[in-house]
Amino acid sequence: MIANDQLAQWDRENFFHPSTHLAQFDRGEAPQRIITGGEGSHIIDRDGNRLLDGFAGLYCVNAGYGRKEITEAIAKQADELAYFHSYAGHGTEASITLSKMVMDRAPEGMARVYFGLGGSDANETNIKLVWYYNNIRGLPEKKKIISRWRGYHGSGLMSGSLTGLELFHKKFDLPLSNIVHTEAPFYYRRPEADMSEADFTAYLIRELEALIEREGPETIAAFIGEPVLGTGGIVPPPEGYWEGVQEVLARHDILMIADEVITGFGRLGSMFGSDHYGIKPDLITIAKGLTSAYAPLSGSIVGQRMWDVLCQGTDEHGVFGHGWTYSAHPIGAAAGVANLKLIDELGLVENATTVGAHLRRAMTEAVGDHVNVGEVRGEGMLCAVELTSDRATRASFDPMGSVAPKVVAAMLKRGVIARAMPQADMLGFAPPLCLTTEEADHIAAVTAESLKEVLG
Ligand code: PMP
Repeated sequence: MIANDQLAQWDRENFFHPSTHLAQFDRGEAPQRIITGGEGSHIIDRDGNRLLDGFAGLYCVNAGYGRKEITEAIAKQADELAYFHSYAGHGTEASITLSKMVMDRAPEGMARVYFGLGGSDANETNIKLVWYYNNIRGLPEKKKIISRWRGYHGSGLMSGSLTGLELFHKKFDLPLSNIVHTEAPFYYRRPEADMSEADFTAYLIRELEALIEREGPETIAAFIGEPVLGTGGIVPPPEGYWEGVQEVLARHDILMIADEVITGFGRLGSMFGSDHYGIKPDLITIAKGLTSAYAPLSGSIVGQRMWDVLCQGTDEHGVFGHGWTYSAHPIGAAAGVANLKLIDELGLVENATTVGAHLRRAMTEAVGDHVNVGEVRGEGMLCAVELTSDRATRASFDPMGSVAPKVVAAMLKRGVIARAMPQADMLGFAPPLCLTTEEADHIAAVTAESLKEVLG
């Protein structure tokens, strides 16, 4: 076995880590952690620490770690056929079965699923589908995409442009042209303190309508949004939001893309966030929970009205010129089939509702009265603790983002993983959907102890 010190050195000298402070890492000032195993909601690191993973990796190991049902399906597929492509009508039993399982679970009105590798590439696919759709309809000017500030849709050129967090734009020359952002549906950060939730929704809808008028509805092709804002802050929408947005989109012939990379396959306590909030999407982005991250796989679920136009397009122009070598990779597909079966067998969607509600209750009891806690919120198996320097004014700490990482580090010392959300002082929790009530209580208790350590 290679010694820990040796691995740490190779890591610093060779490995370009994503979303990492490169210079600090290079200098050996940033943490390094080598993960070796996992079971249920826990991971184990090389130093023998057993950590309760309150973030399921990156909101993705929904079925929990160490699931033999999935690993054995992957091994069997690798042994039989590790790879063949899915171009020109090729498939495998796993990829075809998975397409059927996804469509059986998808909201009403959806027609087909296109498989990719991760959420970012699925959103690249979505925007190409939208542009193709409007070109075939003879509307070549209708190309702009509306996204939201604080939305997260990936790190690619297009998906990173859709993302509404400055960190992902700054010094990368993003966003690309044709991408416009509207207000985040983030009630805690409403512009006026005395706005009711209904007032805030009305304000957001007015802002959206005004943006569309300014840009010209004939130039706007689609709107993309996560049913619950994820990386931008784990924020459920205010009352009536999706109803209002969809009414505006329908009036201006604008497609609706629901980015369900986090919310798909049970995290909100419904199979899809679209069903949860009555969203009728034209496209749905799926990834993470599709395989519980046992293998990389994503998808774009395409609605019927788009599918009909895409088919018309290939009749007029020939083969649909968009594909990845690894689209519908057999190993990812085998993982997906086993994972979706397991989610049903273990009742994980129901568990997300009951244990998720328990987690928020326990968290509210444990930290809700702390002078620096602005609110505890969430939906299904998602929870966020908003930190503030002043509860009355809801002011941020100065500088913003300076406190949550300290609380997260204090939690880690106590064996619990939480996430300091970017561009905020916020603790995020998105545990595996198999979390138990005892584990939820433990997360809440450790959050309270750690808050006390850092903020008193
Ligand atoms: N969309 C959403 C809503 C996400 O949360 C993420 C990842 N956190 C992505 C897209 C991008 O997915 P990936 O990192 O797999 O490219």
